[in-house]
Amino acid sequence: MDFKELREQLTDEMVKDILGQFNVEPFDENENEIIFPTCCHNLVGGSPKLFYYKNTKLFHCYTECASSFDIFTLLQKMYRLRGEEITLGQAVSICNLDAGDIKPIDKNLASAEDIRYMQGLNNVYIPDVDNLDFKTYDSKILKKFGFDYMGLMPWMEEGIGISTLQKFQIRYDSYRQAIVIPNFDYDGKLIGIRERYFRPEDLAKGKYRPLFDNGILYNHPTGRTFYGIFENHANIERKHIAIIFEGEKSVLLYGTIYGDNNNVALATLGQNITKDHIQYLLKMKVNHVILAYDSDYEDYKQLKEVEKKYQEKAKILAPYFNVSYLMDYDFDLPYKSSPIDGGRDLFEKMLKNRRIV
Ligand SMILES: [Zn+2]
Repeated sequence: MDFKELREQLTDEMVKDILGQFNVEPFDENENEIIFPTCCHNLVGGSPKLFYYKNTKLFHCYTECASSFDIFTLLQKMYRLRGEEITLGQAVSICNLDAGDIKPIDKNLASAEDIRYMQGLNNVYIPDVDNLDFKTYDSKILKKFGFDYMGLMPWMEEGIGISTLQKFQIRYDSYRQAIVIPNFDYDGKLIGIRERYFRPEDLAKGKYRPLFDNGILYNHPTGRTFYGIFENHANIERKHIAIIFEGEKSVLLYGTIYGDNNNVALATLGQNITKDHIQYLLKMKVNHVILAYDSDYEDYKQLKEVEKKYQEKAKILAPYFNVSYLMDYDFDLPYKSSPIDGGRDLFEKMLKNRRIV
């Protein structure tokens, strides 16, 4: 028996009874739908924007969640709001349905079955990640650039260790006086090269840009992959956690502080979260995603505005993962710093104070 068949067993009365146990009563009902307050994201109150469609037996939240889900996922959401995680199997039994041979699901590890189910429900088109093809470049180009201690000194002075720089094949381009940052796909194929420039005339065009060498622009669609996925995917697959930073340097710093074999950091090179990102996180069997964006705020009012943006990003990931985000609530860091820039203690303080979505 699958979840769809279980869902089919629900009558309208059962749905009302189940939500009634949480003191959630319908606002309105007609032959096609029952309208509930948005208990999917509100502990109490909530506007009448959670629609239950009798024919499909699916809910749709027209506000915060902006997605469709069934009673089981709704129960998970409601329990999560109350600080408790339940599995889909437990949600089924709360509905007094017999889950039969549905395997009990490990609380901390969404099964592939779970994930496929959630993907189906949310009607999200997720391409098969193994079929994502990137334009690749001949990695011989990297031989042009050496591991130049003097050239790489600016990053070493910021605390990035030599072994981490080497693991990520960071090099120095002495001709352009720039730090070379190769980007690899999951399997290690070279898909792009970015450079960190220092000369004023280069900085005018942007601090970080793709390398242009010998008529070839080594750019890549940054929204389709993560920086660090090749180097860190084995760690992430082992720990089921991914910490998402904005920039490459944070991934390197995290590896230096926690060890290259514990490095679960990735960078989105910006703040966009795409379906390709989600698919890669699913492929790496991630359960917990921690967003660790830069401190682009100088006062409490700005922090609150930025926090709202982070919550929007987190919501994109929330149907698939346990998501939290960290912010510099005490303004310990300089403006526009990465949470890891202030070192281990400060990072761990922010980690401890992170907000769960
Ligand atoms: Zn909602």
